[in-house]
Amino acid sequence: NLNGDSQTSQENVRVFIRVRPLSKKEIAEANENIVISDYKENLIVLKKNGEHTKPFKFDHIFGSNTDQLEMYRMVAFPIVEKALEGYNGTIFAYGQTGTGKTYTMAGNHTVPELKGIIPNTFSHIFSQISRASGEKSFVVKVTYLEIYNEEVRDLLSADPCKKLAIRERKDIGVYVKDLMGFTVDSIDSITDLLNRGNKNRVTKSTLMNDISSRSHAIFTITIESKNRIDNKTTVGKLNLVDLAGSERASRTQATGERLREASNINLSLSVLGNVISALVDGKSTHIPYRNSKLTRLLQDSLGGNSKTAMIAMISPAELDYEESMCTLRYAARVK
Ligand code: ADP
Ligand code: MG
Repeated sequence: NLNGDSQTSQENVRVFIRVRPLSKKEIAEANENIVISDYKENLIVLKKNGEHTKPFKFDHIFGSNTDQLEMYRMVAFPIVEKALEGYNGTIFAYGQTGTGKTYTMAGNHTVPELKGIIPNTFSHIFSQISRASGEKSFVVKVTYLEIYNEEVRDLLSADPCKKLAIRERKDIGVYVKDLMGFTVDSIDSITDLLNRGNKNRVTKSTLMNDISSRSHAIFTITIESKNRIDNKTTVGKLNLVDLAGSERASRTQATGERLREASNINLSLSVLGNVISALVDGKSTHIPYRNSKLTRLLQDSLGGNSKTAMIAMISPAELDYEESMCTLRYAARVK
């Protein structure tokens, strides 16, 4: 690779599948589990009418008995370590509504073993910071925003319904005007911000007819370090993204406003897929970051030296065959 650092290597992008367990309701309704995984070869196939689909291969398949900590160790740990060293990283949770995106990213942080990736990054980051504190000083900042219908809103602001504008400056690149950034110095203070944002997301969602499954939420942690001896500084940015549900508009029988929403979701998810696959491919001279708000905002954290993980979530139920196939195809196309 003659372009060295300017190009994304295959290893900088990893694509995972997580299969959630059948729900009580699915079991009660005698829904069959149609997922067959080969954990050694990282292959997954679905069963349909007694036949098997072609196998899909990924970096790793997480079966329905994968616990939250194993998920963290395999997917998030290496990216957070890199963010502490000054590299940008992004973790996406992709999938149909009800497949476990929020379970995977947020989880239940009142039960230690059910904590998702986001709260687990907090303890990881602050324990590494205290370990390295003799050598380096750190500043950790947080922003939390939502993209709904191609409009950006601040989940940490007093007015989470206000639309914010995306701007660009030569020196700092793409940014959201008036987005609130908070400096945090402990697990408690960063957890408070996550809770505040989640509360805003839920409250707003009730006001606006459950939009949380139809919006992208981006929790961003910026870690600045300064070496105490030579004053060398590094800045790493970690984006933790709970994407909007990937279900197609036709299945939800959308009309009017819902149809517009659905097509915005389809657009931004397909642009995201195009951007990542163009980066992995490495031959494209044009990366279509500008075609959606999501990719525009994450531009400095996708590609180059950045680390990207996509966790594509699927349901194991027969009833969800079509959506699960769409998700596997999407994830396979990304890499
Ligand atoms: P999404 O955010 O994709 O809409 P959720 O995270 O809300 O989906 O998950 C839907 C339901 O399935 C929730 O009740 C959640 O607790 C449960 N669930 C999802 N993934 C898992 C898992 N891996 N193990 C156990 N329960 C899960
Ligand atoms: Mg969710």
